Amino acid sequence: MSERILIVGAGQAGMQIAVSLRDAEFDGTITMVGEEPHGPYQRPPLSKAFLAGESDEESLELRSPAFYVENNIVVITDEQVLDVRWDAAHGTAITNTGREVAFDKLALTTGADVRRMDVEGVDLDGVLYLRGLADAKALKSRWDAAQDVVVIGGGFIGLEVAAVAGKNGKTTTVVHRSERLMSRVVSPTTSTFFKEAHERRGTTVLLNTQVSRFVGDGAKVTGVELADGTLIPADIVMIGIGVVPRGDLAAKLGLELANDSIVVDEFARTSDTRIVAAGDAVVMPHPLTGKGQVALESVQNAVDQAKVAANTLMGVENEYHAVPWFWSDQDTMKLQMAGISAGYDETVLRGNPDEEKFSVIYYRDGRLIAIDSVNEVLDYMAVRKALGAGQTIPSENASDTSVKLKDMVQD
Ligand code: NAP
Repeated sequence: MSERILIVGAGQAGMQIAVSLRDAEFDGTITMVGEEPHGPYQRPPLSKAFLAGESDEESLELRSPAFYVENNIVVITDEQVLDVRWDAAHGTAITNTGREVAFDKLALTTGADVRRMDVEGVDLDGVLYLRGLADAKALKSRWDAAQDVVVIGGGFIGLEVAAVAGKNGKTTTVVHRSERLMSRVVSPTTSTFFKEAHERRGTTVLLNTQVSRFVGDGAKVTGVELADGTLIPADIVMIGIGVVPRGDLAAKLGLELANDSIVVDEFARTSDTRIVAAGDAVVMPHPLTGKGQVALESVQNAVDQAKVAANTLMGVENEYHAVPWFWSDQDTMKLQMAGISAGYDETVLRGNPDEEKFSVIYYRDGRLIAIDSVNEVLDYMAVRKALGAGQTIPSENASDTSVKLKDMVQD
């Protein structure tokens, strides 16, 4: 009998495992189970082009329906795998409808959920999160009629939504609890730049500010009350305060977890070597962190880790080594990041933030480790390539914009 592979989770990582298996000429059965009522789609446009009305639902599809038929990939939508039963080397997954799916090998691409707020009024109509297509449609359906938009959380989602709101002429406020924007991933210079750039576009950015409750008129939100008692009018509140990995099924399977994330090795294997995992639900060792565990919540990681996982499922050990990269479009500002900046001990500023064109280059022990670029694609590309080749760029020259970064690369 041919081998059966079950992929739990029908997002970017799950989709890539299926594609890579077929690319590697896996001729067994591939079944993917996803909770949403539609097949795999792209999430990045949800907070950008989709919200702005520049792309529609169909354009979000990762592959056309014909692709799944042609490649014999069974996609079960609108169902959740609740448990797995093992019988010798084989397993059976049980979904919430009672469906049983038998498999020989298992891949978990269960992703992450939004982190929820627990404050008074969070259930009022118009207080929204943004993670999936249903969330994006709920936001979009209220968007045109809304004038006052309040975003809670100055991370990627929050700032991308604020950028669209500002562009659409809405009165926009970002409420952020800590002292700088996107503090988890970018340098203080980049954070300051984004605060000022959003303010130049008319958005109010409140740092070090906590929400005490959402207030409403009956069932509908009308405002956000801050800890100091200030009331900000709101027709829409969009909460973007990060994600929580979905490790619940992995926990049931007895897999090793770290703060709800599924722990995998460099081959995307979980602590049960019959099971691989990839994407937002996972923490892994990475050559750029000196093998320290890292969670990379990005399309790049979902795709590259899924390719490693597919190889492992095929019995080919192919260590994860891709250089992480990431982007965020906020109005005319294209932020591109490469590498892992955690643990840096030096930064070099190249270019001029006042012109909205610059890069911050990160070093540890004198070696290049990462870059944030704003509207400087060539800098970003040079660093991404250098990191991929294990090369560096001397920090003493890196600010000299008369020389291209790619011409400074050294072993
Ligand atoms: P994020 O980038 O992690 O930012 C969340 C922000 O919320 C952080 O800056 C954090 O601030 C703040 N926060 C955390 N807990 C909070 C709390 N209890 N109350 C108030 N603020 C809190 O996450 P996100 O913007 O929500 O995005 C969700 C996911 O989608 C992430 O995985 C992100 O990488 C991904 N995403 C990617 C893109 C892209 O590729 N361009 C775009 C959108 C989203 P402090 O910790 O500094 O206080």
